[in-house]
Amino acid sequence: MSRKLAISADIIIVGSGVGGASLSKELAEKGRKILIIEKGPAVSLKQMGSEFLCFRLYDKCGLWSKSREGIFYYRTIMAGGTSVVSCGNAVRSLEDKLKKIGIDLSKEFAAAERELGTRPVPEKFLGPATRRIMRAARKIGAKMSPMPKLVNFKRCVSCGNCVVGCRTCAKWSALAPLKLAQKRGASLITGITVTRVLTSWNRAIGVEGLDHKGKKIRFYANKVILAAGGIGTPIILQNSKIEAGRKLFLDLFTVTIGLAKDSGLAKELTMAAVYHSRQGFILSPFIDPPFALASVVPVPLRRNLKIALHHNRMLGIMAKISDDSRGRVYPDGKIEKKATRKDLRKLAQAAKISRKILLAAGADPKTIVTTRIRGAHPGGSAAIGEVVNKNLETKMKGLFVCDASVLPVAPGLPPIVTIVALAKKFAKNLIKEPI
Ligand SMILES: Cc1cc2nc3c(=O)[nH]c(=O)nc-3n(C[C@H](O)[C@H](O)[C@H](O)COP(=O)(O)OP(=O)(O)OC[C@H]3O[C@@H](n4cnc5c(N)ncnc54)[C@H](O)[C@@H]3O)c2cc1C
Repeated sequence: MSRKLAISADIIIVGSGVGGASLSKELAEKGRKILIIEKGPAVSLKQMGSEFLCFRLYDKCGLWSKSREGIFYYRTIMAGGTSVVSCGNAVRSLEDKLKKIGIDLSKEFAAAERELGTRPVPEKFLGPATRRIMRAARKIGAKMSPMPKLVNFKRCVSCGNCVVGCRTCAKWSALAPLKLAQKRGASLITGITVTRVLTSWNRAIGVEGLDHKGKKIRFYANKVILAAGGIGTPIILQNSKIEAGRKLFLDLFTVTIGLAKDSGLAKELTMAAVYHSRQGFILSPFIDPPFALASVVPVPLRRNLKIALHHNRMLGIMAKISDDSRGRVYPDGKIEKKATRKDLRKLAQAAKISRKILLAAGADPKTIVTTRIRGAHPGGSAAIGEVVNKNLETKMKGLFVCDASVLPVAPGLPPIVTIVALAKKFAKNLIKEPI
């Protein structure tokens, strides 16, 4: 038995992450009645900032979220989506690629950057270990510059805890547009896992989901927009009989770490600098929080614990590539994803340079190790030109997608600014349509 909920909305948005929250703000500002349905809980930022508390918000605690082939993928299930645990990097990506397929985001990128307050890391926020890595990188010809960030530096305390949530609210997250949307009358319901889209005569008329007790519940509206992310959205689409889930990318990365004599990156702004290589990867100073490290460093447990115990002296470099879109999300949520030969070549080349930089920055060669392959930007699984058209509409009338799953290829760069810009463009088009 399913319950029909008496909430009338013009538009249902599924998921309150970067795509969903940005879109709900734009549409609510234009007077549309919006209902946002979110699977995860609403958590106050004051409760974040600790690795232990944050674990439960990551999909499968971030420890068991692996593809069949053993590649880790990360996303959080909560109001605000994965942006809450982002590193705060704000780089334009896929601008030319999208323009080539007829989506010109130049105005929307500028508006997104204003809204997110993006700016490169100021000099005084480059910590001593970051500077050592930058100097070492320059020596070997891989010059790093300060990373553009979506961080309010008046509030930032350089705690190094970006990936477990920003307690001081210095970092932009999708909770900001979500709050604005609610102020303009949008309703947010949390704790509902949307399972499929309801249809009538090949037209979307609402969604069905499960509440926390596993009871079916239905919501109705004139239009439905899926923004459940690169993994959540293709699951719902496939369970609504729409072909999706192929061409998954993750922006694969590894982190090469090593111990130094002096203090390390633990208490410094995360990913404060970046080197863009012409060989298709970026390098940036980064180390994982101590517990997370244990699951991703491929060494025996004893050595692993020893490394984690010296977290304060740890240096590290993240190498991120734009991977081949060859993964797949299945309707039951299982993921198929392996690194192709091309991906492995790029990652190996990037790890080799990272090792050289760490050595030049004073890391003990005996302690240098590269983590397993992971990915934190799932997308491409409902790509433009494959599953949705340029207006982000699926083959089902009134059913749209607005999140990382529509991106045509792996950006190999932080995608938040692009998703916000895309949501702004999409909102402009949608507003022109009759309700
Ligand atoms: C540790 C980490 C650091 C990162 N750092 C950066 C960075 O510095 N800069 C950057 O640009 N990007 C970064 N990213 C990537 C970025 O956060 C994501 O690319 C972005 O959040 C994707 O936006 P989205 O709207 O597609 O999905 P999300 O933001 O993940 O939102 C999806 C939402 O849908 C909800 N949902 C899922 N399934 C359902 C369902 N069935 N029913 C209802 N709701 C559902 C989820 O709970 C979530 O709220 C990082 C990612 C990670 C994991």
